[in-house]
Amino acid sequence: MGEHALIQRIRARLPPPPSFVIVGIGDDAAVIEPERNALEVVTTDSQVEGVHFDFTFVSPADVGHKALAVNLSDIAAMGATPRVALLSLILPPTLPVDHVDALIDGMAALAVRSKVAVVGGNIARSPGPVVVDLTVTGSVHRRRILTRTGARAGDDLYVTGALGGAALGLRTLRSNHADSSAAAQRYRRPEPRLRFGVLLGRNRAARACIDLSDGLADGIRQIGEASGTGAIIDEAALPIEPGATPEDAFRGGEDYELLFAVSPKLRRRLDAVKRLTKDLAVTRIGRLTAEPAFLSERGGKAEILPEGFVHFGP
Ligand SMILES: [Mg+2]
Repeated sequence: MGEHALIQRIRARLPPPPSFVIVGIGDDAAVIEPERNALEVVTTDSQVEGVHFDFTFVSPADVGHKALAVNLSDIAAMGATPRVALLSLILPPTLPVDHVDALIDGMAALAVRSKVAVVGGNIARSPGPVVVDLTVTGSVHRRRILTRTGARAGDDLYVTGALGGAALGLRTLRSNHADSSAAAQRYRRPEPRLRFGVLLGRNRAARACIDLSDGLADGIRQIGEASGTGAIIDEAALPIEPGATPEDAFRGGEDYELLFAVSPKLRRRLDAVKRLTKDLAVTRIGRLTAEPAFLSERGGKAEILPEGFVHFGP
């Protein structure tokens, strides 16, 4: 069973959400309104040794950084500002304490830079792998929330940064554990696009947004399916990390860039965001269509978009 099917199955067994839930299961994060006009965003994600990381080529500090970064990326995708984090560590008793120190230091450096406070958590014993699980909250104004559902046919699709770098980095790290290339760094230390996400929401420039944790193809399908559109991608326009392939971009995952939909009429709002974030590339890669197919065009020929990355085996 795939991850999306499993999520649907879990959702079906839970009672319907109460009215203070503005965005429930199925987006990058949940949005709740505990008090009128005071919106909070909540997300959770974990890094599991042997599944998400391998200590032969990532350091404990990298794991600490990435465990927080993947959560902040979901907060960014909602247009929210992160506030606090709860850290649940599940550790084997054999893990050296200096590894724990380094993991926390890696996390703390990103937390300080992102103005997130780690305010609590839990520690439990693991029979084997290290598990670093985080819950992060954020805040956002109601009219500035970015979800996956608001896009329309005719909207242009854009991505931040470069794609495929994490997949390339993972491949090179598996054969050269000490690789310090830009791609290896992308894999070890993804950079959540917090400022860009907040500005995109604040300027109301995007109709839908998602962070790319499971590959570009998955992100496009998620936005299209949530918004009731198809999409056509111009493969030649993809901003691919030097050395990576379109396949790495479409299926690789873990790039943690933002994918978002902009109405051509609101293009000037996006230009305003771009002026404030000059150091980050923003590339138009295609558009959403009324026809429900997800296509990629190369040399005048359209093909079905590859399926994204799959977490839970066949
Ligand atoms: Mg996400």
